[in-house]
Amino acid sequence: MNINKEEIHVVWFKRDLRLQDNEAIYNALKSNKRVLFMYVFENSLIEDPHYNKRHWDFIKQSIVDLNSDLQKYNTKVLCVKTEVINAFNQLFNNYKIGTVFSHQETGLLITYNRDKEFTRYCRNNSVKWVENNNNGVLRGLLNREDWLEKWESYMLQPPIKNELKASQFIGIDEIKELEKYFQIEDLETPKESPFQKGGTKMGWKYANSFFKNRHQKYMTNISKPALARESCSRLSPYIAWGNISLRQVFLEAHQHLTAENKKHIGAFASRLRWQAHFIQKFEMEHTMENESINKGYQKLKKSISLEYQKAWKEGQTGFPLIDACMRCLQETGYVNFRMRAMLISFFTHILWQPWQAASQHLSSLFLDFEPGIHFPQLQMNAGETGINILRIYSPVKNSLEHDADATFIKKWVPELAKLPVAFIHEPYLMTPLDQQFNNFELGVNYPKPIVDIKVARKKASDTLWKMKKDTEVQKESLRILKKHTLSNRDQLLKNN
Ligand SMILES: Cc1cc2nc3c(=O)[nH]c(=O)nc-3n(C[C@H](O)[C@H](O)[C@H](O)COP(=O)(O)OP(=O)(O)OC[C@H]3O[C@@H](n4cnc5c(N)ncnc54)[C@H](O)[C@@H]3O)c2cc1C
Repeated sequence: MNINKEEIHVVWFKRDLRLQDNEAIYNALKSNKRVLFMYVFENSLIEDPHYNKRHWDFIKQSIVDLNSDLQKYNTKVLCVKTEVINAFNQLFNNYKIGTVFSHQETGLLITYNRDKEFTRYCRNNSVKWVENNNNGVLRGLLNREDWLEKWESYMLQPPIKNELKASQFIGIDEIKELEKYFQIEDLETPKESPFQKGGTKMGWKYANSFFKNRHQKYMTNISKPALARESCSRLSPYIAWGNISLRQVFLEAHQHLTAENKKHIGAFASRLRWQAHFIQKFEMEHTMENESINKGYQKLKKSISLEYQKAWKEGQTGFPLIDACMRCLQETGYVNFRMRAMLISFFTHILWQPWQAASQHLSSLFLDFEPGIHFPQLQMNAGETGINILRIYSPVKNSLEHDADATFIKKWVPELAKLPVAFIHEPYLMTPLDQQFNNFELGVNYPKPIVDIKVARKKASDTLWKMKKDTEVQKESLRILKKHTLSNRDQLLKNN
């Protein structure tokens, strides 16, 4: 019963952990009702294997950062550990809830179903739920007619400026009272950590250093596993968890764009468009989480090898660059785009394992896990879309080209560090005499390659090229092209 209870509005934070250019906050503050900020650490998501402690720590750091800014408005984010509906049921004991404001989420099936349940819950409890547009991704689209034009016009609008006033919020003391009714999530995170730290202020530090200096070798180093860590923006977790809006980054990039740096900042800006393009695709094809977007590939059956999968996950395949990338990802939550593509190509082509079996392992390691990029990229790099060029990455070629002096491998596969560089790239080429000379034993100090890469590559290439000609694959390719490629007008805009 809500009689005589104060009616409040709730901003339910999801992947939008920022105060500025946040439309949910903007809309909540427009009314004369007091506002409560809430984050729900959902047990079902915490237990979901796509996620890992590193993600929850990043979120906690982001909320601590928000709270440090909210202090001057005498409020903070109520952080509860339960399911969303339980959280609202509990809130109903204290307040009448007018409207819940949040952003549309292009998420996993588990959050899609949760949102459907929450819609029903709101309807049954006379609560209005306003879901705001998230980074220009459009809900309910049937095709990409004029999509880019609409997205660009969204991106070019000035960021939403939120002016907060203490009188508009539920105060800190009142929130502390409220906390007594909930299981409260502890926001403490480890002091020392190899991961990028969450929070809007930290996100802007990365953005500012990138636009000031780090962009200068962006395109030169983008594919290099060691140097990309410095020359790429490293903004992905801040964008994925909403510490900074895509529009804020996009406008910042355009402000810094000059004729001299166009090669770098221009290429960076086009990746922001890819971000939106992939999330839009997933928004329109959410079954991609479990099934190939091109239904023709659903008949591709691969035999599972838990032994291969284990070696890949543990960085023990006997291919140094693959193992270095996996160990680095495990330890730091980041590798650059090309290395991600190579990891998934190795798993799906060389080890001939289904992309679905790699998904949760990778998502739990990527600090920037964004479902809308993750699934389309997995499928594209597994060669199962029918519309993209088939790329089977060679770990050795990539190693020689992008880690020529083996700096990256030496760091992450230290058991190879003392070998001559040529052998670091391909330790299996060492003769018994070479091994003896270098005090190294293949199969003891470092694994022998778990597959014959030439044979495996040929099998993958032959099978996938043949499948491209399959009638159902071709029919599906046409459907995908029709639904997900840009209209002629948008193509023109893109090329200009
Ligand atoms: C298998 C696979 C899975 C991936 N999963 C994710 C993911 O879960 N989350 C994620 O943010 N990126 C993902 N990517 C894309 C890309 O690897 C990362 O966005 C990029 O490496 C992040 O580093 P950065 O912020 O320094 O990127 P920069 O090169 O500085 O790019 C700036 C921003 O553009 C976006 N971006 C860059 N490259 C891409 C791309 N190829 N596709 C879509 N958006 C892009 C990101 O938001 C990024 O932060 C994946 C790529 C592959 C191959």
